[in-house]
Amino acid sequence: MKADPHDQRRLVDIAELDLRLGGLAHRRTALPEQAALDGLEAERRAAVESAARARIHVEDLDRAIAKLRSDLDAVRRRRESDSGLVAAGGLSERQATELEYELGSLARREESLTAELAELTERHEAVEADVRHSGAVITDLDARLGMAVTVRDTALAELEDAVTATTAERAREAEGLPAELLALYARSAEEAGVGAAILNGGRCSACAMDLSRSAVSTFRSAPTDDVLTCPECGVIVVRTDNS
Ligand SMILES: [Zn+2]
Repeated sequence: MKADPHDQRRLVDIAELDLRLGGLAHRRTALPEQAALDGLEAERRAAVESAARARIHVEDLDRAIAKLRSDLDAVRRRRESDSGLVAAGGLSERQATELEYELGSLARREESLTAELAELTERHEAVEADVRHSGAVITDLDARLGMAVTVRDTALAELEDAVTATTAERAREAEGLPAELLALYARSAEEAGVGAAILNGGRCSACAMDLSRSAVSTFRSAPTDDVLTCPECGVIVVRTDNS
């Protein structure tokens, strides 16, 4: 294929712009600002789950404490009534013995229930503190998430601007180039990953291979408007004064 050497040089500029566009596309898929945001979202999900677990625990303890209080009330009422009977007197010896025995057992039961209640109340306070802590963690994460979204959006917008500017620059660079030459460039880009490269001192700058002496001499003696491809990688090689 024949093409104006100046047009061939423009292919190299287009290849650089395509490389830049590829880098921008890659950056978009591996955006650190997005990774930071994803991390915060995962932290928030974990904090919400932990808060929900703590709230369920508080509710369980509420029920257990209410049950203990009611048991304790029943024991106290029974003790009062038994004590009343003993104080009133007039009981048979057997009745008195039975009541004394029951009063002893009620006292032990009250003591054990009271201790259990104190322990549950302490646990209740601790779990309520967990709920408050989870709430504070979520509030803090929400604030950080808000900022992380802004930072991510800014980074995306900057990327978008860079893509738009580079795409426009590429369009200007490609404007007026022969369709056949652009088609060859597109084929080379698709097959070798690079559309065009400089031949630099006998080395293809796409595959970094030093071409054989005979290939270099053929390339050097070829008319300047001949479009050449690297025998190693198939990329369009463009000659410069330095080739
Ligand atoms: Zn090559």
